[in-house]
Amino acid sequence: MTTMPTVFVSHGGPNVVIEPSEARDYIASLGSRLPRPKAIVMVSAHFETDGPVVVTDPNPGMIYDFGGFAPELYEIVYPAPGEPELALRIAGLLDEAGLAPRIAPERGYDHGAWNALYLAWPQADIPVVQLSIDPHRDAAYHFALGQALAPLRKEGILLIGSGHITHNLRAFFMAARMGQPVDPQLPGKVAAFTSWFAEHLAANDRAAILDWKARAPFSDDNHPTDEHLMPLFFAYGAAGNSVRAEHAHDSVQNGFFAWDSWIFH
Ligand code: ZN
Repeated sequence: MTTMPTVFVSHGGPNVVIEPSEARDYIASLGSRLPRPKAIVMVSAHFETDGPVVVTDPNPGMIYDFGGFAPELYEIVYPAPGEPELALRIAGLLDEAGLAPRIAPERGYDHGAWNALYLAWPQADIPVVQLSIDPHRDAAYHFALGQALAPLRKEGILLIGSGHITHNLRAFFMAARMGQPVDPQLPGKVAAFTSWFAEHLAANDRAAILDWKARAPFSDDNHPTDEHLMPLFFAYGAAGNSVRAEHAHDSVQNGFFAWDSWIFH
């Protein structure tokens, strides 16, 4: 069996599934771009817990964790089953790595999980196991989570981190109200930040990447809080030592909301 690549995807809001965009097309292409996985491990920025939590729910429901969007988005159902056996193995691997996982017997798909899955694997016939991020822990912790699960790639299991390369939502909503960016410097700050990641991921410069908060330009402007970047470090860590980073997508919305996504081979 081929070793699976790992994926970091910028997931957008729930509306990405119904509104045409380059980003939507990219996410929808993932299903045909990647070998068909036996199961998917989904690490969404919207599943935040203190320490790692693995979901054993055999039939996850839906979480409509957003407000003010089109009514049809509250009716979307993604019926992919969970896989309790794999979830327990994941907990075992995390335990061996000293990461002290806990189990959630019941939890649905948040929009960071389902919007990507809904577009990429619309048939919903591949089992999904969800694993949380910890918003109070750093890049190195999420990298270690990925490293611990790397052996699963040889079994045809796809490890996905779903977050956002930039997450300046305050600027996003302000601009939506006012029709222009609040900070005229913001597009430049976004470009500097995404270019920095592109360059350092291409070079597999792990020390720099894990120290992004100090070293990447305008890290605070792009991530007022860190949680949406953490799934990137999970996917990067899961890809192993000799990772080749494919910068698979890089559209920008409104000039300052970037959708960079990577496939790590
Ligand atoms: Zn999000």
